[in-house]
Amino acid sequence: MDKRRVLAKAKVTATPSGMINSVWGPISPDKLGTTLVHEHFSFAYPNWHADETMAPYDYKAVLKTNLGVIKIAQKYGIKTIIDATTNDVGGRNPLLYKELAKKTGMNIICSTGLYTEHEGSPAYWKTRIVWGMDISKMMSELFIKEINQGIGKTGVKAGVIKCGTSGGGTISPYETAVLKAAVVAQKATGVPIITHTDGPLGGVEQADLFLAEGANPKKVMIGHVSNSKDIEYHKAILAKGVYIAFDRIGLDIITPFDVNVKNVAELCKLGFANKIMLSHDTVNVWLGRMTEVPENYQAGFKNWQIDHISKDFLPALKAQGVTDAQIKTMMVDNPRNLFLGQ
Ligand SMILES: [Zn+2]
Repeated sequence: MDKRRVLAKAKVTATPSGMINSVWGPISPDKLGTTLVHEHFSFAYPNWHADETMAPYDYKAVLKTNLGVIKIAQKYGIKTIIDATTNDVGGRNPLLYKELAKKTGMNIICSTGLYTEHEGSPAYWKTRIVWGMDISKMMSELFIKEINQGIGKTGVKAGVIKCGTSGGGTISPYETAVLKAAVVAQKATGVPIITHTDGPLGGVEQADLFLAEGANPKKVMIGHVSNSKDIEYHKAILAKGVYIAFDRIGLDIITPFDVNVKNVAELCKLGFANKIMLSHDTVNVWLGRMTEVPENYQAGFKNWQIDHISKDFLPALKAQGVTDAQIKTMMVDNPRNLFLGQ
């Protein structure tokens, strides 16, 4: 073996079996502790770079804001944050995550994956379909490499596969390619899939596709089910054997606080505490030029904060009869079990 190959090999260390890729290196599932399963340290819709002259990326400012946010989360005992930012949107920054983790001790797990057709960036892939390339295969190769070897040259390995659908109950051919690639990557690496669903629909169809492709349902978390106020929708997804995430807690503009409390409490009563996870989908820094939220909408966003679940949502659940043990199940055990496939 020549020297160059030895060096190249030495740079990438395989994640020991049973361990999770955090941005700072492998960690044991037992070390996750209280976990927020879907947040964003920074985010922008694709093409934000087109406006970057007007609003350049300010690494120091992004770092400073997120150090402050993490400090608040730590006050409430949050030990792990999963950043659900995919490759094709703005804001995924492995080196930022690494510095945040190093400076705060927070476990950070970041994503590989691609966003929806509607709000992601499918143009690159679609041009390759024209030339007869198998984009789903290409995507799975990308996801697997980012999990096993790292994102770009950063050495930071992705710990979850994030994908999504935008058409309610309809999954477009492009999104089908992404979801199938996610399953291939899950099978190859054992890393869990977490999703974005749009509107109050799509979770059942996503779960069906994953199952049809042979995914391990215990390593699938269907996200944004809190977009729906209908508990029958939640039950229909749960019937597939996957996890569900009420992960937009605080986005009262989509579903009011009380409705989410009622639905989660009811599902706990029905015995589903071991299948539910909670998070906010916060965006701590929006890249690009800031958009002003009109005054009449501001109330719907005011609880969209990293401490809202700890401060307000969990106490409200307890008032509805949810036990401390069930809260621990949702905040600690289920995230760990998602990685373990239990
Ligand atoms: Zn999100």
